[in-house]
Amino acid sequence: MGMFDHVYPIGEKKFTCREGHEIIEFQTKDLENALLKYYLFDGRLYEEVHKAKAELDPKSVDDRILRIAKQTSIDAIDKSPRYKTVSIYTDCKECLPILTKSVWGSAEQHPNVEYELGFGKDGQVEKIENKSETREELQSKLTEQGLRIVEK
Ligand SMILES: [Zn+2]
Repeated sequence: MGMFDHVYPIGEKKFTCREGHEIIEFQTKDLENALLKYYLFDGRLYEEVHKAKAELDPKSVDDRILRIAKQTSIDAIDKSPRYKTVSIYTDCKECLPILTKSVWGSAEQHPNVEYELGFGKDGQVEKIENKSETREELQSKLTEQGLRIVEK
């Protein structure tokens, strides 16, 4: 299983599944793939920095380390990529799963939630595209894969 990073949107914009359930934690494979924590705040990506680590390495303690949100205690460095699309994804556990049955047994799948964040030349998000699937789309996809849907 490959590695990934976490992305937590903490700004004004709400990210939801197609049913409108709010999603607060995503994964991405488009950054460092080292289980780092990134926060999407004010249209930029900030990587969390741990104080202790920062103190061990004085060179990293500089004015790039910001407290990104006054209401949180997150210390972070602006790591917004330039000219890059970052895909963030998860599945919605609040949506009812679709149950399938095959020769390998039964399984449950929740609809995918995926957003594409398009970063511009100054590292600001310029475009957010919602590529999430509906429960019906998931059901069609599973049917096309030859799985038998147990219940709607
Ligand atoms: Zn949902």
